[in-house]
Amino acid sequence: MDTSAYLRNHIRTVPDWPAPGVQFRDITPLLQDPQVFRVLIDAFVHRYMSRGMRPDVVAGLDARGFILGAVVAYELNVGFVPIRKKGKLPFTTVEETYELEYGSATVELHTDAVKAGDRVLLIDDLIATGGTMMAGKKLLEKLGATVVEGAAIVDLPELGGSGKLRAAGLPLFTLVDFE
Ligand code: 5GP
Repeated sequence: MDTSAYLRNHIRTVPDWPAPGVQFRDITPLLQDPQVFRVLIDAFVHRYMSRGMRPDVVAGLDARGFILGAVVAYELNVGFVPIRKKGKLPFTTVEETYELEYGSATVELHTDAVKAGDRVLLIDDLIATGGTMMAGKKLLEKLGATVVEGAAIVDLPELGGSGKLRAAGLPLFTLVDFE
């Protein structure tokens, strides 16, 4: 089976959402069908269960990264930690602010979420400009952890984010490209 093509067929493109001119890649149909959901999760689990690839912790990016990351972590029998948009985490946090097309965003991580030296898999649903994943990497590094790989379902390579992340030393694993 061509996993990439199979998964791509279950991603819905919604034109002009959330703003005119944007083609939103909606991954919810991948989650809704149990067979497709299993193929999706297994694609990540098989990679990170293999020798030398198993992380100590999975970190998920708010909010769709939680859905994927939590299930992958459970299957790998490692812990899951959420990286959240500012103002949602109750305990002490480290934070990182990054630029968006219009304005900026801040993400946070609990200070005890990872330990120095932990090898972390960072997961989200999609990489566009790469700003979100880069902010997640920096947060984890502030606590002394190493992000061994960034994973996502979708890469939009033309937006340059995945290229920038790789150039910054972050290996990436993605399943579907959209132009
Ligand atoms: P970036 O920071 O790489 O520019 O944007 C990626 C973040 O925005 C991810 O957290 C992702 O969930 C969200 N995002 C941006 N565009 C899309 C899209 O077309 N589809 C989905 N599912 N998420 C998107």
